[in-house]
Amino acid sequence: MRPVIIANADALVTMESRHVIRSGYVVLEGSQVHSIGEGAPPALPDALTVDASGCVVTPGLVNTHHHFYQTLTRAYPPSVDATLFPWLRALYPVWEGITAHSVRLGTALAMAELFLSGCTTTSDHHYVFPCDAEPRLIDAQIEVAKNLGMRFVATRGSMSLGTRAGGLPPDSVVQDEAVILADCRRVVEDYHDPDPFGMVQVALAPCSPFSVTPRLMEATATLAAELGVRLHTHLAETKDEQDYCRRHYGCTPLELLHRTGWLSPRTWLAHGIHFSDAEIRTLGDAGVGIAHCPTSNMRLASGIARVPALRAARCPVGLGVDGSASNDSSHLLLEMRQALLLGRLGAGADGFSAWDALELATVEGARCLGRERALGRLTPGFAADVAVFEITDVAHSGAMDPVAGLILCAPAQVRHLFVAGRHVVCEGRISGLDVGSLCAEHRAESLRLRRRVATHAR
Ligand SMILES: [Zn+2]
Repeated sequence: MRPVIIANADALVTMESRHVIRSGYVVLEGSQVHSIGEGAPPALPDALTVDASGCVVTPGLVNTHHHFYQTLTRAYPPSVDATLFPWLRALYPVWEGITAHSVRLGTALAMAELFLSGCTTTSDHHYVFPCDAEPRLIDAQIEVAKNLGMRFVATRGSMSLGTRAGGLPPDSVVQDEAVILADCRRVVEDYHDPDPFGMVQVALAPCSPFSVTPRLMEATATLAAELGVRLHTHLAETKDEQDYCRRHYGCTPLELLHRTGWLSPRTWLAHGIHFSDAEIRTLGDAGVGIAHCPTSNMRLASGIARVPALRAARCPVGLGVDGSASNDSSHLLLEMRQALLLGRLGAGADGFSAWDALELATVEGARCLGRERALGRLTPGFAADVAVFEITDVAHSGAMDPVAGLILCAPAQVRHLFVAGRHVVCEGRISGLDVGSLCAEHRAESLRLRRRVATHAR
């Protein structure tokens, strides 16, 4: 691979301190950052030079929570104005129709949207395995990530507690626990690369307290420890979930986590809204991470996560766009803006800065995924994951501070994006992807799912 010089950047944000290099360059060699500095770049005869004049250059952004398949069910009318439980009950029958083909299309579309918003590493939480669908859905996602060149943390999700047993999802989308655990082991053994620079990692991810049994939570934690992989789940998202835990288990969601062996630095949780002060201290002491999902939390009126308190307790707090059925977008830069605005509603105008939002989407996201030695910074020896955002367009013209402007103005799309030194977005176009055809196929699949559920309802 030729070295790459990203030259003439208006502003370079390294995340080494809250400091911006005005007018500088980054050199990428192989899959890592080689050097970074002010002024003119060094002369390298074989290098590919990318002009970043008029641009802010940041580390590639890290997305810590998503459900790619939900891009197929954005803005589904019966769920548009609902809170989490009725929203889920409206959508489960639609999701029951997904196939490996749906998952491939949802993954490609979500990754395309993430790429254009500056994301170079994404996690996904896939937990819907319909009874009559091909079971190897995580494999389908990994295949797409490899083709597109996204750095991917697949999580093998699961649901085992159907309505007959007192859970929320219909029995048609839950699996037998022995089948789940065997497939978790298989996916880790087939794909997980423990190298901190690895392009594919796998984590284990039972869906939520109301869709899996405590027995499965405990068995999954034991398996994750044996295989040396991370753990992920939804927790403390809504008051309904708190009520469910009290009614069914006689405890809070966090106490359930404690009982099942999940209070560990290998765990990161989606949402983490409804915690007491003592629970936040417990999370910090255990090193548990939080994927903060502000748009989803506002869309479903779930509440405001106490991000400053969680960070003060030393929890790694990353950012997640969450599934596209509760966000309707996979734009990570937009999510930074949402985090800042919601954070200020919770903590005051001086309680959440543009730098805070940027840290969530870079260094903190990397910590959440256990990748802080390789990702989230523009530093020699770190991964060559770089986002180049243009700030001379109509939406940014006149912005005086490059970092605040990037986050406060209408969200930009990248001009260039590099993952492990590969040029995956060039002049705003995703390399090797026909976006028009992808959108056409994706729309057709979305329509099939909607028609299928309408037919079943008759
Ligand atoms: Zn989620």
